[in-house]
Amino acid sequence: MNAIAGNRQKASVIIIGGGIQGCSTAYQLAKRGVDVIVLEKDRVARHASGVNAGGVRLLGRDIAEVPLSKVAMQRWQTLDDELDGDTGFRRRSLINIAADEADMQTLQKRQALMHGQGYFHETMIDQQELRERLPHVADYCVGGVVSETDGYAIPYKSVFAFRQAAARAGAEFAEGQQVQRLRRIGNNWLVETASGRYEAEYLVNCAGAWADQIAVMMGDNCPMTYSAPMLMITTRMPHFATPVVGAVSRPLSFKQFENGTVLIGGGAKGFADRARNTTRLDYAKLAVGASNAVDFFPIMRTATVNRMWAGLEAYMPDNLPVISASVNSPNAFHAFGFSAHGFQLGPVIGEVLADLVTTGRSEFDLSAFRVDRFERKVL
Ligand SMILES: Cc1cc2nc3c(=O)[nH]c(=O)nc-3n(C[C@H](O)[C@H](O)[C@H](O)COP(=O)(O)OP(=O)(O)OC[C@H]3O[C@@H](n4cnc5c(N)ncnc54)[C@H](O)[C@@H]3O)c2cc1C
Repeated sequence: MNAIAGNRQKASVIIIGGGIQGCSTAYQLAKRGVDVIVLEKDRVARHASGVNAGGVRLLGRDIAEVPLSKVAMQRWQTLDDELDGDTGFRRRSLINIAADEADMQTLQKRQALMHGQGYFHETMIDQQELRERLPHVADYCVGGVVSETDGYAIPYKSVFAFRQAAARAGAEFAEGQQVQRLRRIGNNWLVETASGRYEAEYLVNCAGAWADQIAVMMGDNCPMTYSAPMLMITTRMPHFATPVVGAVSRPLSFKQFENGTVLIGGGAKGFADRARNTTRLDYAKLAVGASNAVDFFPIMRTATVNRMWAGLEAYMPDNLPVISASVNSPNAFHAFGFSAHGFQLGPVIGEVLADLVTTGRSEFDLSAFRVDRFERKVL
């Protein structure tokens, strides 16, 4: 890679998007001595990466994501030291609860699949062990599955820990710079925003719910959509759940923080308007989420919901991200479409993209994440 000598408008690599993927990539590149600028249209951590549920989850991953997710999970255990920052990471077991025997059968099939692939980090538990780990779980729940190394982190703190570590290593962050146009000038990319022009040899597209627009500017078309997953948080409650909790077949996920508040998610979606950077809540769906929580944990009947919000997130049809070189442009890379589970992957995505940019290769098999995987042959 040629270093481009220069001022703040020129770098070897421009990253579009200051979420966790952009900041993690900036950190990994800057750590390797690569000159890098991050262009963010709003503020760093303004979107999904700063407002998500903070779930650091290896449990229940799609098989294609397990190798990446396992390495990411190792990184989270020591990330504060690595970044010399505070991500708020807490290691907690994560339990997906089985509500009935059909759920247990689903888990048995999953276990056979995982063991067949050589993965042993998901352990089934019976009703008695479920009760020991979650004494307040409803009586009808019959068991579950647990992953011991999972946990949670505080989203905006995590993104800022990456940003600050990247900046200390020399990365530049330009906020309020919406990328509007990309052009090739010789071997370089010219990147135009409303108020500036930037130039780099390499581009990395980490633009989250807007990444399909950047992909099109690079010549790559893909069927990304976007939506507005919602969350709610309660006032402080007596401590009743140490593990992070999900459910095998119902849309429930929650975690109780050290201050007693309970964050309730589960994937219910509100209304997304990405052109205006806004979301609107769907209160009927939030009510279903709250009633699921009460169903699994009757103690939640006394909970008071304090705040509700949503974030803009990119989804792919197969719920797998795009982590890929551009297929139609040189020196351009993508990492987007994380489909509501990209926060946990953040630490490893930066490593993968830094490898792709600096060596053109990754130690991971990225074939399931190619940007052109949905293109069909037309006969
Ligand atoms: C409510 C909610 C709960 C979630 N819970 C979890 C969870 O518990 N665990 C988990 O692992 N994941 C979770 N996720 C998913 C996770 O937050 C995302 O997958 C992840 O943050 C995506 O990171 P990103 O950097 O790709 O995108 P983003 O954080 O969206 O960052 C992309 C950035 O690109 C910028 N940008 C876009 N277009 C341009 C442009 N043209 N020019 C300049 N900048 C641009 C945007 O302004 C944005 O800041 C959740 C998501 C939401 C919304």
